[in-house]
Amino acid sequence: MQGAILVLSGPSGAGKSTIINHASSQIGEYYFSISTTTREPREGEKDGVDYYFVTREAFEEGIKAGDFLEYATVHGNYYGTSLKPVKQALFEGKLVIFDIDVQGHRLVRAKMGDYVTSVFITPPTLKELEKRLYARSTDDDSIIKRRVENAKEEINAIGEFDFVIINDSVEVASAQFATIANAARLKQNREELEKIVLHWKN
Ligand code: ADP
Ligand code: 5GP
Repeated sequence: MQGAILVLSGPSGAGKSTIINHASSQIGEYYFSISTTTREPREGEKDGVDYYFVTREAFEEGIKAGDFLEYATVHGNYYGTSLKPVKQALFEGKLVIFDIDVQGHRLVRAKMGDYVTSVFITPPTLKELEKRLYARSTDDDSIIKRRVENAKEEINAIGEFDFVIINDSVEVASAQFATIANAARLKQNREELEKIVLHWKN
């Protein structure tokens, strides 16, 4: 497999989707891993575009069948990354971008660390995160409170990431993300390094 993985994590409301969309024209071809979740779709979200929305029963069947590269419970719902399309994209040499939580990052790094570059994105302060979640107005108050509480835990994992982006200005944060994504493409896994050395010696 010749591709590379870029893991993007950070609290809900950090600006992950905004930054991927904003930077997409600057990072060449990539495959965005569409996760599967048991949470309800938000207004405007489409099945098969934002997420695959499934029942808990269907998700648990997927776990039993070994369909997931990683999965976790976040804010009381299951979220998971399907293994098959990711493998396919890596075989095709693509950069695969994951928007997953800090637990997912740990699991992907443990399984495929050789391919992984990771970046943690956060607004400058907890107050600003809260403000953006209310301004986004896609979730009701109790859900926002839960996301803010979760964010206080997630921030403690910041040191586990290769890079950190403070999303103050979307323009600046997107340019930083594009730089990291383009560097992530150049990460060589062990198999590729062995090939380079072999070729070099011959
Ligand atoms: P995530 O995908 O991490 O959950 P979003 O991309 O949905 O976060 O962003 C959360 C909200 O914050 C959205 O309403 C988005 O428009 C807004 N937002 C993102 N980046 C900024 C920024 N730099 N300044 C102000 N608002 C922002
Ligand atoms: P949201 O409900 O705001 O779309 O996402 C909530 C959290 O779940 C975010 O931190 C997001 O990164 C994370 N998430 C989304 N998909 C996955 C996934 O496939 N696996 C894991 N572990 N986390 C995910």
